[in-house]
Parts: sequence; structure tokens; C-alpha cells
Amino acid sequence: MAAGSDAGESGSFSCAKCGKQAHLQCPKCVELKLPREGAAFCSQECFKASWSTHKSVHLKAKVSHPGDNPGEPKAGSTKDGWLYCLRKGQSRTPKLPHFDWTGSLRPYPISKQRLVPGHIDLPDWAIDGIPKIEPNSDLQHHVEIKTPEQIERMRETCRLSREVLDAAARVIRPGITTDEIDAVVHEATIAAGGYPSPLNYHFFPKSCCTSVNEVICHGIPDARKLEDGDIVNVDISVYYKGVHGDLNETFFVGNVDEASRRLVQCTYECLEKAIAIVKPGVRFREVGEVINRHASMSGFSVVKSYCGHGIGELFHCAPNIPHYSRNKAVGVMKAGQTFTIEPMINSGVWRDRMWPDGWTAVTADGKRSAQFEHTLLVTETGVEVLTARLPSSPDVLPWLSSS
Ligand SMILES: [Zn+2]
Ligand SMILES: [Zn+2]
Repeated sequence: MAAGSDAGESGSFSCAKCGKQAHLQCPKCVELKLPREGAAFCSQECFKASWSTHKSVHLKAKVSHPGDNPGEPKAGSTKDGWLYCLRKGQSRTPKLPHFDWTGSLRPYPISKQRLVPGHIDLPDWAIDGIPKIEPNSDLQHHVEIKTPEQIERMRETCRLSREVLDAAARVIRPGITTDEIDAVVHEATIAAGGYPSPLNYHFFPKSCCTSVNEVICHGIPDARKLEDGDIVNVDISVYYKGVHGDLNETFFVGNVDEASRRLVQCTYECLEKAIAIVKPGVRFREVGEVINRHASMSGFSVVKSYCGHGIGELFHCAPNIPHYSRNKAVGVMKAGQTFTIEPMINSGVWRDRMWPDGWTAVTADGKRSAQFEHTLLVTETGVEVLTARLPSSPDVLPWLSSS
């Protein structure tokens, strides 16, 4: 790519490479209306020599201004142009799609993609929606043993992820929309210097997943107001210092019926019991046995289509950890591995269906589903819960309150 001549406007700038008087301007920066400062060069040679580092300016600009057309309201000023999300966010329609809805919940319009400032480090899907390193990595087949340095970064990122989830938990009440929860998550993540991992991952349009009532997982934050008696799961993933953290919790909205309260508490206990067996030498397939035993004891069923996963520099990698019994997961746990356990427990049948948006997984019978998730580190003697609750975490899980 060659730099265009624009002596008239670049004359007062010095070359970003060598400091001499600049006569050329990077054409991409001109097109994107980026500052002339740092985008001016004295010669094609200096422009070419700077290209490998200079081009990142364009990428960050695109994330900051997705679909920024002249005359359009600024992205981020929500309310305007809310549409239904169809087909993994790639196309949208203002009409409610036809679908054999399994329960009473319906999709609502979603807001425009939120902005990420240029100083935030981006995962490789942030610009075009396509993860590149993740699907081709060896770590899809081999479970990585993290170095002490990687583990330290995982601790930091997972703690940050926990603080973001806690920020979301504090605003949950009847009347708030899941889009407003997403805004809180997005702002809290960026304020801490992180990137919300779900944003544009395989074109997912929002910064977290919000799964209401019969939604099992991957619900898209939208304009629906939470109602008294709803349950809502908020799933948070943060990319910070080159690694991801991942956790979720299911919250009560106002006064929730006894059956839903039992479902949510049982799901929490399923995760606790699974974490309790984690230590070196334990088979990954044991996790599903423990979870299934506790869920079925209470008359609930375990979702089979979505599993726990390895995590680190990749968002999703080996091992795959099913939550149901008699699963075929391979391998044993070793000190230094990091992965999630995230059981989804249904009050009715285990089967799931997919909404036309390509993301929202719902129960086949429309009955409610709950989930909890932690990111875990296998230690020499057992387990460290990297996304554990903090003394500052809000008191929103009633069975944990001593009073
Ligand atoms: Zn998650
Ligand atoms: Zn996860």
C-alpha cells in the first residue's frame, strides 16, 4: 500500500518515521479521518518502513467507530435504530421473526455495537468477528500447563472479571433492561483496561450474555425490561493482559417463586460439588457424574449441548468438560491447568433449541434453566477458584447470607 500525496495539509507535520518535513499522508488515515499527527511521512520509504506498526492505528479506529456513517447518530447513543438480532448479528430485521417459541420469552430489539477506545488491547476477533488463532491452535487438542507467569495474569484477569460481574449484579432489579446491564458490563470492563471478550466473538453483538428464564445460555442483551419474578444469568468474560477470565451467576429479579429458587440454588450447589473434586489425577469425565447426581436428586435435568472449557490466552480450548453423566471426556486433571465448569440445569427436559438469532439457547419445553460458572486453576493439592466471590461482592445469593 502506498501513501498518497497531500502536501497542502501535511506540510506542517514532520515525518512519523524520521522527523523530516512530511509531504505524504497515509491514505487510510485520511479515509478514516484520523489525526494527521503521526500519519504523515517524508517519503514512500519511511511510510513502508513504518507500515507494520502504523497499521494498527486503523484497526483500533474501526472498532471505535463501527459503521460510523456521516449523518448517522453516534454509535453508543442507544435507543435509535434498535433492531432484532438475526443470524449471529450479521443481519438484522425490524420484524419479529417467525419461530415456534418454546416459552413466553421473546427477542427484543438490540442496540448498536458499543465502542472500545483505542488504548484497549483487542483479541483477534474484535475487528472482523472471526477468531483466527483459536480454531487452529494445538491447544484445541492438548491441555496447556500454564507457567507461573501465565497463572499470575490469569489471577488478575479473573479477579477483574469477578468485579465486572459484581457491578452487573448490583444494578439488577425489575424494570432494568438487559441492554442496560450490558452497558454497565461494557463500561466497567473498559474502565479497568479490559476488553469484553464476547463482543464480536463469532459476531456476537454485545459485551456479555444475559439469559432470562427459559434461556439456557448465550442470551443477547436487548430492550426487554426485567420483570418481577424473572431469573437472569449474567455471563462475563474479560480479555486483559493477554488472557481471558470467565464466570457467571444467576440472579433473582424481585420476588421469585419457590420452584425457581430451588432450581437456582441447586445449580449453585452442582457447581460447588464439582469444584470440590478438582485436583490432580481426577478424570475430567467425573465432573459430569457429580453434577448429574445432584441435579437429578432434585428432579432437575442437565444440559448436554454446552460444556465447560479450557481458557487462558485462548477464550475456548481443551479440555472439553461435559456436565452430564456417562460422558466421553478424555484426560485427567494436572496442576497448572485452567478451565471452566459451568453447569446449566433445567427444571424440565434437558433438550435445548436455538432461537433464529443463532445464539439464544432455550429449553425445548420452555421451562426455566439456571447456570453458574467459575474459572478454576488445578493446584498441586486441589483447586484455586480464580473467579471466587470477594469480600466486596454484593449479597445477592440468599442461601449464602448468614442472617
Ligand atoms: Zn462464561
Ligand atoms: Zn465459559
